[in-house]
Amino acid sequence: MSASGRFLAVALVTIFSLHGAEEQRPNILFILSDDHTSQAWGVYDSILNPVIFNPNIARLANEGCLLTNAFCANSICVPSRATILTGQHSHRNGAYRLSDALDPERETVATRLQSSGYQTALFGKWHLKRKPAGFDAFRVLPGQGRYWNPLLKGSEDWKDGGEGGRVYEGFSADVIADLCLDWLDEQDRSKPFLLMCHFKATHEPFDYPKRHAGLYQGMKMPEPASLYEFSGDAAGRTFSGQRLETLGERFVDGTFMDYPGEFALEKGMSPREVRSAIYQKFVKDFLRCGKAIDDNIGRLLDYLDTSGLADNTIVIYTADQGYFLGEHGFFDKRIMYEEPLRMPFVVRYPKEIPAGSRLADMIQNIDFAPLLLDYAEVEETGSMDGRSFRSNLSGETPDDWRDAIYYRYWQHQENRPAHYGIRTASEKLIHFYGTSLQSVHDLIDESSGTWEYYDLAKDPKELRNAYAATEKQESVVALKRRLLELRRQVEQLR
Ligand code: CA
Repeated sequence: MSASGRFLAVALVTIFSLHGAEEQRPNILFILSDDHTSQAWGVYDSILNPVIFNPNIARLANEGCLLTNAFCANSICVPSRATILTGQHSHRNGAYRLSDALDPERETVATRLQSSGYQTALFGKWHLKRKPAGFDAFRVLPGQGRYWNPLLKGSEDWKDGGEGGRVYEGFSADVIADLCLDWLDEQDRSKPFLLMCHFKATHEPFDYPKRHAGLYQGMKMPEPASLYEFSGDAAGRTFSGQRLETLGERFVDGTFMDYPGEFALEKGMSPREVRSAIYQKFVKDFLRCGKAIDDNIGRLLDYLDTSGLADNTIVIYTADQGYFLGEHGFFDKRIMYEEPLRMPFVVRYPKEIPAGSRLADMIQNIDFAPLLLDYAEVEETGSMDGRSFRSNLSGETPDDWRDAIYYRYWQHQENRPAHYGIRTASEKLIHFYGTSLQSVHDLIDESSGTWEYYDLAKDPKELRNAYAATEKQESVVALKRRLLELRRQVEQLR
């Protein structure tokens, strides 16, 4: 063979092998919702299951793997979103609180996949303030955005704050899915894609499209056992929390947010009747709103089927955190109790993940970005705190997989104070340290603030803070020691 012939042969082999490798790398459809908590999915253990019909979420759970112990590291929108993208805890990526932003210079799963040859896009809720980086295309809501006729901003019409962008007519979940479908249609099929579809639903004010207005009309929704906890004293709770009466005041007042439908409290109602009425409206609206997510997941799955992309596309559906749906009389998130701490998460990838499988390993949102990099065959640079759970999903959990998670909520308000804690498979210890600290280097006084301990094996609904119980002292002391070790490790304290 002549020199030029050899060159051609080598060049062809290189082109074909590169092309082959590109074809083998999977597409990633990452669907994220806002506050769509596990109790409302219909596939997790929940008192609401008899009234929930989310066939597309159920389809994903039947065809993929449902995570049963996935947790966030800081249960609130902005920090969780920053953690999902960076694979880092809040104190490492700088997004501690709702008011924080994500620096566009930071390495994220999107910047890494984009530079490795993925076509990348994000549509919907962003909430990280600064202009998104790492996406070939994006259109994002300013801040929380609107449920109806949302304004969405792209690279070409970007302005900071509430400025820029243009209005899209319709219900936000439908609009966001439309943008995703349009983008998918335009992509080069010889290259893999990362598409992040971020619904605004089911965030307060829990609005829904008109097609779901009749759902649950006249029905009585099942109530959690702890709905009528009016004082946390008997349970030993050390903070007052965000009680449903606050939501009821917002329903009546109507100025905090624009709530759907009608709501009125009748004179002479007892406190229990008031709480029940608020809960009934809240949960019905929440599930109607969640149903709009399910509809649109269905549209995306149908597209993958009809376009022949389903086999080589990893589909993930998760929420940025969980939410209280009336448990302990609360709504909202933030607190390290089970409902807000848990992240519902389902992943489908027919090539590697057995259909209908369940993964009980302890996973955290710091692990999501490393997982996606692993599937995309992109090396980690060491910036991420989490760890890929690709082998766990295929049925092989590494021997040294974590058996406890570290959690820290930074924002501090009197009724929902800042705290940190540890959760193992069967226990939880939380320290509400009583102040608003700005950095991991600020000294925490262990003797100040309050502590809560829950024996999750015996008390999975966290109905009794057993921190002071005589029979639990040995467990509490042992867990405190482990919590300090975890803090030192995660927060890199000396
Ligand atoms: Ca959220």
